[in-house]
Amino acid sequence: MHYAAASNLIVPVLRPYRKRGKLGIWFRDPTVIELLESRLKNGGYAEIGEFHIFAEDADREVFHKVVQFAKKYKVFLHAHSDADPVDRIFKQWPGATVLWAHSGFAEPDPIFPMLAKHKCLWSDLAFRSSHGAGGKADAEWAQLFAEFSDRFMIGTDTYTPERWYFVEDHASWIRAWLKSLPRDLAERIDWKNATTLANWALQIKD
Ligand SMILES: [Zn+2]
Repeated sequence: MHYAAASNLIVPVLRPYRKRGKLGIWFRDPTVIELLESRLKNGGYAEIGEFHIFAEDADREVFHKVVQFAKKYKVFLHAHSDADPVDRIFKQWPGATVLWAHSGFAEPDPIFPMLAKHKCLWSDLAFRSSHGAGGKADAEWAQLFAEFSDRFMIGTDTYTPERWYFVEDHASWIRAWLKSLPRDLAERIDWKNATTLANWALQIKD
């Protein structure tokens, strides 16, 4: 219903959890495979995610299937994970497109080699704060943004209703640090890169 009201603003994504409490165990539940396929086969989704996955859990059978579904249904994978599972995804399917949630909660130094190594790895800035303070982008982050100007995007991480109360304040904070960057770069991080990724995922199936 919400999608129909604003299909130009909403990008439908599919979370592989049956309930909120499943985020630490979903990849042990083989019924998730059926759930995902029953939804994906009807089309309309841009990504599978955001899902939580860590270390060797990315090599469990259920997760391998998730990566295969991304390939079959041409959607990207939105991974809340450290660097290791991102490597494992690309090992399973070198043609994957991955959005790295929260930029892996990593700092610029370890993010750099990941983006350099994986050309179809995108990075979001949801639930992060070290990249902008006092109305300015942090110098190290700004360098990273400039280096990979087409791969970063902001995020709000409104995964629970209570977080919607902070959307406006969060947006003001984002607008402030974005202003300290060159305009073209700021626009890419602000909305252009996310639009490119969403359009790719939604149009590729046409
Ligand atoms: Zn997350």
